[in-house]
Amino acid sequence: MLTRRSFLGHSAIAPFALRSILCAEPETSAPQVSARAVVIHKRTFIFDGHVHALDREYYHGGSFGTRSTEGQWDLVRAAEGGEDAFFLSIFVPEEYYPSRFETKQAFRRIDHALQQIALNHDKVELAMTADDILHIRAKGKMAAILDIEGSYDLDGNVGILRELYKRGVRSAQLSAHNWNQKYADACCSPPQSNGLSKHGRKVIHEMNNLGMVINVSHSSDQTISQAIDASDHPVIATHGGLRSANDIPRLMPDDLLKKLASKGGVFGFQIGGEFASRRVAEYLTARRNGKSFTDTVSIPDRVKGKTIEQVDSLVAPVYPMAGARTPDNIAVAADEWVDVVDKAVQLVGEDHVSLGSDFDGGPPLPRGMRDVRDLPLITDAMLRRGYSEGRIDKFWGGNLLRVFRQITQK
Ligand SMILES: [Zn+2]
Repeated sequence: MLTRRSFLGHSAIAPFALRSILCAEPETSAPQVSARAVVIHKRTFIFDGHVHALDREYYHGGSFGTRSTEGQWDLVRAAEGGEDAFFLSIFVPEEYYPSRFETKQAFRRIDHALQQIALNHDKVELAMTADDILHIRAKGKMAAILDIEGSYDLDGNVGILRELYKRGVRSAQLSAHNWNQKYADACCSPPQSNGLSKHGRKVIHEMNNLGMVINVSHSSDQTISQAIDASDHPVIATHGGLRSANDIPRLMPDDLLKKLASKGGVFGFQIGGEFASRRVAEYLTARRNGKSFTDTVSIPDRVKGKTIEQVDSLVAPVYPMAGARTPDNIAVAADEWVDVVDKAVQLVGEDHVSLGSDFDGGPPLPRGMRDVRDLPLITDAMLRRGYSEGRIDKFWGGNLLRVFRQITQK
């Protein structure tokens, strides 16, 4: 692990990330929510489509079954926030691609995740089907679904894909996080294949055959559109926001949301304010000296000639990515956040929206939310909006479970 001083020397985002690490504020008390929201939230099934559950433990050690004072998520706090199941991000970021470490890193992260799940078997189990999730929940534990975020192989070798499936992986992003794969373009890199290459369609076909979730979060608009056309199954975007709410290329345009929904897919909303509010995005971009959060141009130079262990050390200090703290007058209110979900509900109905919090992946949290424990703030805002309990249930977990069942059942 690097010291924080040495981290400052070579990371482009160091000063920004460092501030949020060093300016840890004293623990604030739980926000007020209505008694009705507490009851409904406790009862409902919550399936979080995206959590950076193990970055902290992978790079810094420890167990995710232990309550941490760092970051936004661990198994203890997630249970207190009412979560029942989650997509566990097997995060292989861009730093591992220039020297082609991505496959090794994917397997290292899967091995680590399986060890952590085994270590915490009293609290969590690996789930590979929708029935697994329900059985695990009935035992009072949380269900973890392995989801590759980033690249497992820039070439998209389907043999490697099948090996990942055998290890329990049930979901993978099409893009290499914000970079292109050789077979699928990402949101935030210049187009290479104008969507999917011919081989990209083979990857989709193999994922359909295996029963793996095709996750189009971070994909380019063309990739998303072509993937929906090419896939026999619904396609999911696990964590994002609407471009009509905030004009960021990483976010989903209304027409593509409609297309995804028309094929039965589900769209997961990231919990942060940067995707939900222009005000928050402008504030944070200014603090990054005008740089977008997807700016990764310095990476090839920074990792040049480094071993995989040196790359580990290079990236370690940014984890867990707790997200920048936004002052109360800037932070998104829970009601504003629900406004954006509601926009999607107006567009595609209540059957295609879900949660993909991205906890510990950097979301600047809504006002008053300390971490995953305070998810009831959202239930309360939905009740104020007049949402029925049935709609709230669908958003928190019913929709994602339905599609996960459809995709993974044989
Ligand atoms: Zn992501």
